[in-house]
Amino acid sequence: MLRQALLVASRSGGVRKIVETAPGIRQVVRRFIAGETIDDALAVTQRLTAENLLVTLDVLGEDTSSERMAEQIVEHYTELLKRLADHGLGSRAEVSLKLTAVGQALDERLALDNARRVCTAARSAGTTVTLDMEDHTTVESTLRILHELRGDFPDVGAVIQSYLRRAEEYCADLAYEGSRVRLCKGAYAAPESVAFGDEDEVDKSYVRCMKVLMAGRGYPMLATHDPRLIEIAGALAVLHDRDPDTFEYQMLYGIRPQEQRRLAEQGDQVRVYVAYGSEWYGYFMRRLAERPANLAFFLRSVASK
Ligand code: FAD
Repeated sequence: MLRQALLVASRSGGVRKIVETAPGIRQVVRRFIAGETIDDALAVTQRLTAENLLVTLDVLGEDTSSERMAEQIVEHYTELLKRLADHGLGSRAEVSLKLTAVGQALDERLALDNARRVCTAARSAGTTVTLDMEDHTTVESTLRILHELRGDFPDVGAVIQSYLRRAEEYCADLAYEGSRVRLCKGAYAAPESVAFGDEDEVDKSYVRCMKVLMAGRGYPMLATHDPRLIEIAGALAVLHDRDPDTFEYQMLYGIRPQEQRRLAEQGDQVRVYVAYGSEWYGYFMRRLAERPANLAFFLRSVASK
């Protein structure tokens, strides 16, 4: 119930105004978000990569409503990728891209062309792009764009959300040689007709998907903070004789940082998803929805101001 309410609030302009102007909100947000500028993002990336972690950078912004806004996002990614290369970070940090930020809701063709430009900039910087998966209404369009892009950029990463009833089928289609696939539970509100509503069902689906990906020939990117799922991932790696460089764990910046380090220290690859930018509201609200403790932290911080 609380999760659904927070996810609905993540799309509400009224709640957005209240949250964005809450006292001390910026310090609270900084726990999950690297900052607002490219310099902030680079500083966090340098710190994490120095600790033997990999990074994927997300420029905050979604639901772009004009071509001009989409253009600004593409230009921002291009600048970010150039700066990553200048700092010699291309081999340790990639970018995550939301297609709605580059115009998907306006025109699929525009989003494809813009995503292609980001992929070209990533290639010049010696790195890769992963297409975030968003609201369930965008899934088929995102997969179409992914397949088009992979024609020229086979290393573009896909994301599958295990809460989708069709998740296992999507994973089976994507478990081919060279295919980078991030598996996550799913962070958006979705109706029962397309997604499992029960947490246990979502977790069981995650395990089924993980089995498909780990047995397959692609490169699984297991995005979860869930200790049980991380343990099962480790067991599947042993079962399928996977070397640590043939898959990776992924976690969000600010969530279970000790676990990120523990896995890296035991020789696994761990990538941290680092979001930054001024459009933090939707991302922040989805993090609150995931964990009541995050909400309590937010309310305590605001109350103490
Ligand atoms: P949860 O069910 O949230 O948590 C499971 C367990 O993990 C908890 O019970 C607890 O034991 C532990 N845990 C979780 N948080 C904490 C904490 N703060 N401290 C201590 N323990 C904790 N979603 C999308 O829809 N599209 C995407 O493209 C996408 N990309 C993502 C990329 C990455 C790298 C990650 C990590 C997540 C991404 N997500 C994405 C979000 C994802 O779908 C989930 O909403 C989010 O990861 C929470 O799910 P979880 O697997 O961590 O499990």
